[in-house]
Amino acid sequence: MKSSAGNIGPALLVQKFGGTSVADLKGFEASADVIQHHGGDGQVIVVLSAVKGVTDLLLAAIDQSVEGGDGKAPLAEALRRQQVVIDEYTAKGIPTPLGTAFLSEQHEQLAQRIEGVRLLGQCPDRIRARILATGEGFSSRLMVDLLVHRGIAAEWSDTDVLPLANEDWLDSLVDVEAAGPLLRQRLRDDVKVLVLPGFYGRNAAGEIQLLGRNGTDYSAAAIAAATGASRCQIWKDVDGFFTADPRIVPNAQCLTEASYEEAMELSYFGAKVISAKALTPLADKQVLCEIRNTYEPDQPGTLIHRDAKRTHVVRGISHLQNVASITLQGGGMRGRVGIARRVMDALASRSISIILIVQSSSEYSITLCVKQADADNARRALEQEFHFERLHKLIGEIGVQANRAVVSLVGEGMKHYRGIAARFLTAISSAGVNVEVIAQGSTECAIAVVVQGDEAQSATRACHTAFFSRTTHIDVILLGCGNVGGELLRQFRQQSPKLLEHDVELRVRAIGNSRKLLVADDVIDLSSWREQLQSEGKSYDMDAVIAIRDRLGLLNPTIIDCSTDEKLAAQYVRLLEAGFNVVCANKKANTMSLEYYREMRSAASRNFRRFLYETNVGAGLPIIDTLQGLIRSGDQLITFEGILSGSLSMIFGLLEDGMAMSEALAKAMELGYTEPDPRDDLSGMDVARKLLIVAREIGLQLELKDVEVEPAIPMETIAKVARAELLPAVRGLDAVFAEKVAAAAAEGKVLRYVGSIKDGHCRVAVETVAKELPLGATRDGENALVLHTHYYQPIPMVLRGYGAGAAVTAAGVFGDLLRTVWRPLDQNS
Ligand code: ADP
Ligand code: ASP
Ligand code: MG
Repeated sequence: MKSSAGNIGPALLVQKFGGTSVADLKGFEASADVIQHHGGDGQVIVVLSAVKGVTDLLLAAIDQSVEGGDGKAPLAEALRRQQVVIDEYTAKGIPTPLGTAFLSEQHEQLAQRIEGVRLLGQCPDRIRARILATGEGFSSRLMVDLLVHRGIAAEWSDTDVLPLANEDWLDSLVDVEAAGPLLRQRLRDDVKVLVLPGFYGRNAAGEIQLLGRNGTDYSAAAIAAATGASRCQIWKDVDGFFTADPRIVPNAQCLTEASYEEAMELSYFGAKVISAKALTPLADKQVLCEIRNTYEPDQPGTLIHRDAKRTHVVRGISHLQNVASITLQGGGMRGRVGIARRVMDALASRSISIILIVQSSSEYSITLCVKQADADNARRALEQEFHFERLHKLIGEIGVQANRAVVSLVGEGMKHYRGIAARFLTAISSAGVNVEVIAQGSTECAIAVVVQGDEAQSATRACHTAFFSRTTHIDVILLGCGNVGGELLRQFRQQSPKLLEHDVELRVRAIGNSRKLLVADDVIDLSSWREQLQSEGKSYDMDAVIAIRDRLGLLNPTIIDCSTDEKLAAQYVRLLEAGFNVVCANKKANTMSLEYYREMRSAASRNFRRFLYETNVGAGLPIIDTLQGLIRSGDQLITFEGILSGSLSMIFGLLEDGMAMSEALAKAMELGYTEPDPRDDLSGMDVARKLLIVAREIGLQLELKDVEVEPAIPMETIAKVARAELLPAVRGLDAVFAEKVAAAAAEGKVLRYVGSIKDGHCRVAVETVAKELPLGATRDGENALVLHTHYYQPIPMVLRGYGAGAAVTAAGVFGDLLRTVWRPLDQNS
């Protein structure tokens, strides 16, 4: 539908092309294609940004000459970039009468103006506006050249049709109501495409005033609002508005739609898609706004409109770099009226805009954020404003924290759901990032936090994963890859595809043994980890392990300790402090001093990390979890007894069958049930450690030395003999054991190696046990744990099953690992 001047129909379209769409001839041509093929049947108003980078270069030329330099290099580069596009046109035989005439005129004028600035030592805003506007002046004319060459009825228009509503030379507002009739008049019937430079308007005196950085979006929005256009299209080098900056979050998704308010919040807090200022006229007049890709024009893009459906609770995440936070603090602020207003006025009078401001509820402090470049100026303004208060020490030093960033979560859906802020903060903390300030607007459409600038990207990625990825990632560093660790990796490999079906992605990022550490940039291929560790592993220390977290940007990572290393166990507090969950099969940590025992638990809860060790006692049998459950629900343990060693369970079972002690030991060794040196089992220390862990779990404040240990075989007979002499030495005890076994059997009993807790006392010893009782029936390497509690009596709770062996232990560790993600906030305390 063709419309006539003075009566523009709904088919009028406004198209804005940003710097990335007019970076070179290819960009101009792609933009011209869009105007030609996606401009609809009606008239089109096209608004252009400067050639990519030109405004920044002109600004650099001004800054240099203000500081006494000549500004020639950036100016020459700005002119060169524009000349390059003209040359590209010429090479293709496209005439550029408008572009060439304008650029040659600018060569002279810009050089003179920049020289003037240098002589003056300052750049008045009016001159600054004129210099910066030339970029748009050029690109818009060059576009007309191309469209005319293609035979399109295109015409260039100056921005005298954009009268201004205020006297701000650098950040002006368009008088939308007044602009309407002027634009309509300019858009004659015979013009198909009217091209205007973006970024500036003209005041009543015809002088150029800028519309703020990235002001071309605002030019387009104001024009669309003024003319009652059907749509305002913002053409860029991306498919649309993404859930986060796609350069930082590779799996960010392109939004189909967003509301004006959401787009405004996202842009305000840093999403470089459409300037926040542009959204006001669009929202006021309910102009539909599309974000589209110049280079992929068939993509649907993002529609910004009033009725955007709430498909997600959260629409997007943005981050704003180069921010400084400023804090005013002091007892003198309490109860005094008007401090916040004075802060705002002081900054407004210097044209410093406040990104966010938060007042502590005690009114004892106010924190605000401004652009980094404004920080010094802002501090001086506040020092001046609060001169009196500072003199009388009512307010302390005004603290400036430089290099901060604001990360914000935006979505109108947030109003209707609980727990969003908690999830947001948990995600940020899972990335190991500290939150310095939290701000939530009263509209509840955005929550913003201030973090260290260099941590903003990890925080943004972590939040994006938390809100937009269905997949939960489990990042693992495995230390100790012998029997249990090796089996665990095998189970990971086998189970990973199943977990993925449940949206859990298990990623092994590093594997270490006692000598070497293998770290993958991505994930370790578990089909060949042994070879890789061998060939690519490097010697390492705990600093190297801790550094992996930041280097690979791990989210909520877990260290699994499948070693028996005491030194590693002594590092758990440090690992928890560094933001790792710790899952250990290693029993050493839980049997170190009580002080360390407590410290690990408080480090875990302080840092919201999990410390899990289900396999420390009874391998895969759920003894720790069961005990914790009983105690939490108010039950009390009266007595405990257990067969806690697989090897001794095997040996004592064989004795019962009439085998001699030395033969039983030999058989257990042969079947692989014992430690490499079986004396480690026979000494009873392994059982003593497990018993101590159970005792501490029920609240007994005991050290390892408090456990009374009677070895399974008198150690004096075997302690000093060589390995090869061990069995002959044990043979000397065969008769004694045979006698004990027979005596017990006469009473219907059997010998068992038992750990027991009674009246706060722990004891590990060979006991005679009635054959039909749970412990009497436990043999062949099985474990049994018998719990007499207030609720479980007279019949006790019994847990029985294999309590050793690589497969069940690894499965227990695997279970702990999964618990680190299922219940991330539920701490073992
Ligand atoms: P133009 O000047 O052409 O309008 P800009 O250079 O100002 O373009 O901004 C475009 C860039 O903004 C994109 O290339 C993209 O990397 C970045 N960007 C940041 N946040 C987002 C987001 N949430 N969605 C889409 N693009 C984003
Ligand atoms: N060229 C101007 C700037 O870089 C305006 C714009 O591109 O929107 O700020
Ligand atoms: Mg731009």
